[in-house]
Amino acid sequence: MLTFEEVAAPNAADRAMAEAAAKHIETRRVRVEDKRIINGKADVNQLVPFKYNWAWDKYLAGCANHWMPQEVNMQRDIELWKNPNGLTDDERLIVIRNLGFFSTADSLAANNIVLGTYRHITAPECRQYLLRQAFDEAIHTHAYQYIVESLGLDEGEIFNAYHEIKSIAEKDAFLMPFIDTLTDPGFKTGTLENDQKLLKSLIVFACIMEGLFFYVGFVQILALGRQNKLVGASEQYQYILRDESMHCNFGIDMINTIKLENPHLWTSEFRQGIGSLIRKAVDLEYAYAEDTMPRGVLGLNASMFKEYLRFIANRRCQQIGLDPLFPGADNPFPWMSEVIDLKKEKNFFETRVTEYQTGGTLSWD
Ligand code: FE
Repeated sequence: MLTFEEVAAPNAADRAMAEAAAKHIETRRVRVEDKRIINGKADVNQLVPFKYNWAWDKYLAGCANHWMPQEVNMQRDIELWKNPNGLTDDERLIVIRNLGFFSTADSLAANNIVLGTYRHITAPECRQYLLRQAFDEAIHTHAYQYIVESLGLDEGEIFNAYHEIKSIAEKDAFLMPFIDTLTDPGFKTGTLENDQKLLKSLIVFACIMEGLFFYVGFVQILALGRQNKLVGASEQYQYILRDESMHCNFGIDMINTIKLENPHLWTSEFRQGIGSLIRKAVDLEYAYAEDTMPRGVLGLNASMFKEYLRFIANRRCQQIGLDPLFPGADNPFPWMSEVIDLKKEKNFFETRVTEYQTGGTLSWD
């Protein structure tokens, strides 16, 4: 009796081809053990079977935290900004510089993900999170634009600050080579040198850009909100901060998993290089703090941020398995732990945020 293959492909050549095709189909089925975060050979279009459950969980949490800028009421901010006695000049400077940095920073973050990182990551669970993260970045850019529009600020001034304001331009100039590595169409992983370049860029993005460069700005706007000033903008920043904490945590999980899968990348020379970058970043962010707070304002002054940035830098080092760069640094803003508790970032999501995890809409009384 003829086999199915003999009926379907009666001659030997056709049969061999059919067998090869069957084998090909068989080998395309993804096995968990074949998945890798970088340089994976498994089919990236098969999300399941899951291997990186942490990435999938963060994707679900990111979606549960969905919000839109126009859902935040900006009326009180508009009245306060228009009132000539509503805010001091130093407070207004903080807002303008702050938006000057953030309005383009989240766009750089989006480019980094969509035009860079996404191509190099071969785990579909991580890609799924990166797609959500990319949309978060779009929402953040939207939020800054919405604040600029609500307050009637000079758009040209705000959106060009990253070219025109030294302390902002220097932060971005520090980031650009790492973003360029990932977005260069000719850049491919698969060699020791390039895999280290990729890992370094991912660390710069998660631990320095999202994990350090955003934090002086967050403290400043939340300090305004804490004094019942620009409460709408402050609320937008709380949502953004919640998203960014998750971006940072996702990036760190991804970095640590790449390290586990590719221990040869984590040489002592590489670790030293990362330490120097974090030190440089602390200096740049401190210069930004001095530039935005030439005098004490809102109970804050630039020198408090020296300690705060060192405290955050230590936390980022610890999260990726490096020794702290600034032993003994403490958090000078105990009040910030209500909103950003770096030691309890998970608790922040699990407890404080559940009240507005309503899966798509926010309710306002
Ligand atoms: Fe982000």
